[in-house]
Amino acid sequence: MGDIAGGVFARHSVAYLMPSTTYKGATSAGRSKFDLTSIRAIPIRDVAIDLGYALTAGGTGRCRLPGHEDRNPSFSIRSATNRFTCFACGGNGDVIELVMKMRGTGFVDTCKWLTDRHLGGASVRSWVGRRPAGKAANATRALSVPAKEEHAAAPDYEAFEWLLLSSTLNSSGYNYLASRGFSAETIAHFRVGQIGDRGKAMQKAVARFGLERLRSCGLVCEGKFGDRFVFPTGYLLFPFIIDGNVAYLQARRPDSGTQWRWLCPNSLIPPVFNRSALAAGATTVSICEGVTDVVSAHELGMPAIGLVGANARLDEATLDLLRGRNVAIFGDRDPAGSRFALHLIDRLAGIGVTAISKRLPSGADDLNDHLRNMRGLTA
Ligand SMILES: [Zn+2]
Repeated sequence: MGDIAGGVFARHSVAYLMPSTTYKGATSAGRSKFDLTSIRAIPIRDVAIDLGYALTAGGTGRCRLPGHEDRNPSFSIRSATNRFTCFACGGNGDVIELVMKMRGTGFVDTCKWLTDRHLGGASVRSWVGRRPAGKAANATRALSVPAKEEHAAAPDYEAFEWLLLSSTLNSSGYNYLASRGFSAETIAHFRVGQIGDRGKAMQKAVARFGLERLRSCGLVCEGKFGDRFVFPTGYLLFPFIIDGNVAYLQARRPDSGTQWRWLCPNSLIPPVFNRSALAAGATTVSICEGVTDVVSAHELGMPAIGLVGANARLDEATLDLLRGRNVAIFGDRDPAGSRFALHLIDRLAGIGVTAISKRLPSGADDLNDHLRNMRGLTA
């Protein structure tokens, strides 16, 4: 294969100085000759399939990144940006980063591998033919058999963004949020929306995206009487924005009723809520249980992220963003809240981040209670 690779490199003779700060381990190679523009433009779908991924037509599938045993497809590629994201483990990047992670190779070897396999020179098939029998059989299968359709949901940024934009907060929702102690600025900051009429919302969404697409992002699920929009009339919508995309939506009843208090897309794993709070360089960051407490923390002037759901955990990308900061954990005043805090302290200690569990002031069972006490909104 060396001769083929040599030929390819000769044709793409753009000198490139390794960005050593981004790609650790590449420094020893110094200046290398790769056509990085062409490498980064290799369709990420082709590369992912080459690496054994089974992807749906929409570009989603089970994550195969090392260390992540994905039960529900949480891996997603975006052809518009030619990047991948795993919404469960938080892995994300471009084609080079995908190959580096999957094959455990450094920057230079990865560029060489991508050039060999996907740019000019050797065709993938002839390359496969030179592999040992067992591996060759697997690779060929991955390339030639169409991906099996997966039925668990994956986020659909476009559909989620559209739904949020077409769900304007009305006075009932605004009044409810105000009763929780949230200011108009805070409500606008979190881009809280509100579902209008459930039936009409579903009708418009189906007309725009088609039923299959709404099913695959969890906005429509099978009910007793056929397909059903997951969010009922009047529910508040809280977007979970990751790198500028609406990656998840959680809906809340706009009143103090306790039945179906929170609803979410079907079979979709929630990412961290309010991760953009970590974009700024705050030295102390709070981690809260659930959406309401994160919004409360923001209202109280504390940058906070939130974990929702029984199996919520911090993904790698979020853990990375927490490095070098002080972390305060606000769990609810109950056994589950204590477990939440203990688990996080443990997880963060593993990456050398010290976290402390914050005790809520007396008379407050959660951060929102505390906020309302401070604002004189409780009896
Ligand atoms: Zn993953």
